[in-house]
Amino acid sequence: MTRRIFRSVFLASLLVFLAGLALVVGALYNYFAERQAGQLGIEARLAAHGVENEGIGYLEGLDDGDIRLTWIDADGTVIFDTDAEAGEMENHAEREEFREALATGVGHGERTSSTLSEKTVYYALRLSDGTVLRTAESHYTVPALLLGIIEPLLLILVFALLLSAWLASRLARRIVGPLNAIDLDKPLENDAYDELSPLLTRVEQQQRQIASQLEELKRRKEEFAAITDNMSEGLILMDSQGLIMSINPSARAIFGANGDSAGRDVLTLDRSPELRELLDRSSRGERAEGYISRGEREYLLTVSPVFAGSDRRGAVLLAVDVTEKQRAERLRREFTANVSHELKTPLHSIMGAAELLQSGLVKPEDRDRFLGRIRSEAARLVGLVQDVINLSRLDEGEEFPREDTDLLALASEVSSALEQEAAGRGVALAVTGGGGTVRGVRQLLWEIIWNLADNAVKYSRPGGRACIDVSTLADGHVRLTVRDNGVGIPREAQGRVFERFYRVDKSHSRETGGTGLGLSIVKHAAQYHNAEISLKSEPGKGTEISVTF
Ligand code: ADP
Repeated sequence: MTRRIFRSVFLASLLVFLAGLALVVGALYNYFAERQAGQLGIEARLAAHGVENEGIGYLEGLDDGDIRLTWIDADGTVIFDTDAEAGEMENHAEREEFREALATGVGHGERTSSTLSEKTVYYALRLSDGTVLRTAESHYTVPALLLGIIEPLLLILVFALLLSAWLASRLARRIVGPLNAIDLDKPLENDAYDELSPLLTRVEQQQRQIASQLEELKRRKEEFAAITDNMSEGLILMDSQGLIMSINPSARAIFGANGDSAGRDVLTLDRSPELRELLDRSSRGERAEGYISRGEREYLLTVSPVFAGSDRRGAVLLAVDVTEKQRAERLRREFTANVSHELKTPLHSIMGAAELLQSGLVKPEDRDRFLGRIRSEAARLVGLVQDVINLSRLDEGEEFPREDTDLLALASEVSSALEQEAAGRGVALAVTGGGGTVRGVRQLLWEIIWNLADNAVKYSRPGGRACIDVSTLADGHVRLTVRDNGVGIPREAQGRVFERFYRVDKSHSRETGGTGLGLSIVKHAAQYHNAEISLKSEPGKGTEISVTF
């Protein structure tokens, strides 16, 4: 700023100074040159008068003055010269003032010295005898004059330089001072020059615009954080270089990232080849999906590139916990395989017996045994299909109508239904307890009691005792307990008996007609009623399973 002002001030003063100088020097020079020319004419006429009257004697009698006088013969020979020896001077016939004087009576001439520092002005007059008398005077040329005053000129220039510098810095301070004092937070409250008003108004407008944009940005950021912070899925936003721009708490937990990972390469969170490959594919503009395992959990990672027009600006990584889904998928596959297997075995049995009967190879006394096998295997199939139907209805989350159900009465019904089987196995089945009412699905409650009691009978030894107890606890909960003093469940199997098709002793289970689905149905039906199951069992001593509603 100071420099610019200095340059302008200095240039302006230099121009004014030079213009003034040119004007003064030019005007004075012309004035004196004209006066000198007039003087030369007067001198020439005076001298001509003297020479006409006195001849050369007049010239010889003259004092040495500033003006040079030359008398030239009509042929150009110099007759007399006040400054030089006439004999040594060259012929003047070709001089312009001489020729002009010869022709018109008066001649003028001007010649500049070889160094250009002096200029000589001539005035010639033709005398009555045909000779020419010439006056001449020299003076400095303009450049020579200027050169003569170069020192004062330089002094003035230095002065102008210093004055400009001082003025520039003073002006700059005066201009910049109020600008620096402006409070940009309150642009319109400043008392600056009027010229600044449009600027300050615009600053104020822009400030208001920026403030509202910042507010909007903050609101959106909060909105984004509120959504992503509460997401159970892991979300990472990356720039085109793969550097993390934003990472939500779920993603931090999945990848074990501590603190703020923004700005770090996403590969520093996880260097697995799976993630690397997904990122590679996304950098090629593809949407990529893959699975990774962290601890005991399994995640589906989706990396989608983000485009602005045709430019890839970054990518979004979404990590979804698919552990349960995968487990359910695995269970479903196992279940299908198990069901097929379980259906095949009795069907083979039925077909085998039927073929033998059809071929007539069975002795008449064995026919009943074979028919009995067909019947019992068919009954097993019906039981299995019914169990599968029950389970799938529970799996599908079907809503059943609820009603207040007297569990003790239901237990008595089950006990009656099992009476024959219990008697056949030599097991005493009893129903005990003060009873209790549960608001639930009668059919499901029946399934719970039936499956538990059926197991208690099936896995008891002849002479054993099984008991169904229904009591209301002090806290109001109703508890169903089915206990027996049968074979018991080995400790390592206790955690698995509720799995579908899990059976401790497969061959014994087949003998007893079990499907391996009974306890699964109990578990799901209990879950449907928000009831808790507990199992206590000791191999060889017996089993107790409680369901607390
Ligand atoms: P199953 O149709 O084979 O009885 P369940 O799902 O009802 O199938 O039971 C799973 C397995 O748990 C049974 O095969 C059996 O080995 C064991 N089990 C269930 N109840 C008892 C019990 N009261 N006593 C001993 N073992 C039992």
